[in-house]
Amino acid sequence: MAKCSLCGAPAVAEVRYARLRLCREHFLEFVERKVERAVREHHMIRRGEKVVAAISGGKDSATLAGVLARLRERLGFGLVLAHIDLGIGEYSVRSRRASERLADELGLPLLVLSVEELLGDGVPRLAMKARRPACSVCGIVKRYLLNALAIEARADRVATGHNADDIAAYALKAFLTQNLEDLRKQKPATPSIEGLAVSRVKPLYSVYEKESYLYALLRGLPFYHEECPHARLTSLDFHLKEMINKLESRHPGIKLQLVRGLARNADRYPGEDWEPVPCRHCGLISYGGECSFCRLTSRVKGEPLGGKVRGKIRSLIEGSHI
Ligand code: AMP
Ligand code: ZN
Ligand code: ZN
Repeated sequence: MAKCSLCGAPAVAEVRYARLRLCREHFLEFVERKVERAVREHHMIRRGEKVVAAISGGKDSATLAGVLARLRERLGFGLVLAHIDLGIGEYSVRSRRASERLADELGLPLLVLSVEELLGDGVPRLAMKARRPACSVCGIVKRYLLNALAIEARADRVATGHNADDIAAYALKAFLTQNLEDLRKQKPATPSIEGLAVSRVKPLYSVYEKESYLYALLRGLPFYHEECPHARLTSLDFHLKEMINKLESRHPGIKLQLVRGLARNADRYPGEDWEPVPCRHCGLISYGGECSFCRLTSRVKGEPLGGKVRGKIRSLIEGSHI
């Protein structure tokens, strides 16, 4: 049996790009150090700040919350979890349950926002009414609700569980389609814009998907291991991930080189042509005066619902201990 390169105990993982075999303890430490280094290097979280970790119920969210819960003492920040119940049938029921179990396990406060309760329809029905792909509607709704929640909770950061595989695939897609503004969006930390948008950080940006999976497993963190039923195995994103992993197996470390390089260079790619301004309906970030959430809800519900939704989130927060 292979042995840990550091202590000689039985190895549970091989990290080829670092030429290491690691036992359970050293693997956990390896991932935690990688995340801590990312957080410090990119100034993702400062002492005394309040962080909302967005958790979907999946493995990356479990690892994100698990590692941040360990780092928060040393780095001195506050941590709360937020889950969006998207209303996608059984998938959402199980994802929500996994998020609740994760919060219990880690002893962290959790705020759940239900799209059905806030808007009267779940994501699939909203998408059908809007005649748009479910994933694009889902993206708009998630981004808006997480930002609104962070603004109302007076949080300094929204942390997401995007891993190196997600970012590498996204970056290649942006290059292939020449949407170069999307490369800039892959920065590990974006700044807050006072009153409009809360800073977003990606502490797992250099953690490989399989490392994140193994971390959650070895720590015994609860997660729901299913893809969203709307995710298609024929999509470009899926093929790009496959391709990058094939490359990685022949050229260990290429994925890490891409995500770390992108983190350094993201600012050199073109940004949006428009300045962010407050949405005229809800006051949160928009490019051009109407945010995509208010535009979507106007179309589907007959009125822009950003303002009302912010009010509901505010009351939910006041009734919780977040
Ligand atoms: P995905 O776009 O599904 O790959 O998710 C990327 C990241 O977005 C996750 O790691 C979470 O941090 C966040 N996220 C995705 N879905 C949800 C959700 N339903 N509730 C809260 N955060 C989510
Ligand atoms: Zn060891
Ligand atoms: Zn709006």
